[in-house]
Amino acid sequence: LGNGASSEERTLAMIKPDGVSGNYTDEIKRIVVEASFNIVKEMLTQLDKDTASAFYDEHSSRSFFPDLVTYMTSGPVFVMVLEKQNAVSDWRGLIGPTDAQRAKISHPHSIRALCGKNSQKNCVHGSDSTSSAEREIKFFFKDVVSGDIASQHHDEL
Ligand code: ADP
Ligand code: MG
Repeated sequence: LGNGASSEERTLAMIKPDGVSGNYTDEIKRIVVEASFNIVKEMLTQLDKDTASAFYDEHSSRSFFPDLVTYMTSGPVFVMVLEKQNAVSDWRGLIGPTDAQRAKISHPHSIRALCGKNSQKNCVHGSDSTSSAEREIKFFFKDVVSGDIASQHHDEL
């Protein structure tokens, strides 16, 4: 397609309520930019119970789900669409493992090691696959098309 941008990938990143209330937003955004992600969209928002439940629908049968919804609605979240080559796996690599307590040992330079607390309060979210990224980006930003930018342009013609 010849415009270079078509090899870029997009992922959904979120600074969870503990990250926002702990004043980690600026530091995390600095890490994002330093890692060569382009911030395509950003939004500070407050999730309600239905929205948090729908976002984490895949976990609705898990024992931790009610506590997860309470946590995710406890304060504002900062949602971003990030773009770069391999955005999905690169962002997952930067945030580290789900359990922030383990992250502090196994991935001490990860974002969850920096600002997470345990397996629930882990400060940040990242899409786990390109198909999750597509769903999650649409979930928050109905006007943004994930993945191939050339096809987005095409759709607009
Ligand atoms: P990740 O956010 O790393 O993709 P999951 O998709 O497995 O992790 O879980 C979604 C979120 O649910 C986690 O980020 C965390 O906030 C919470 N969570 C996951 N596992 C547990 C657990 N065992 N106990 C409490 N909360 C959990
Ligand atoms: Mg997940």
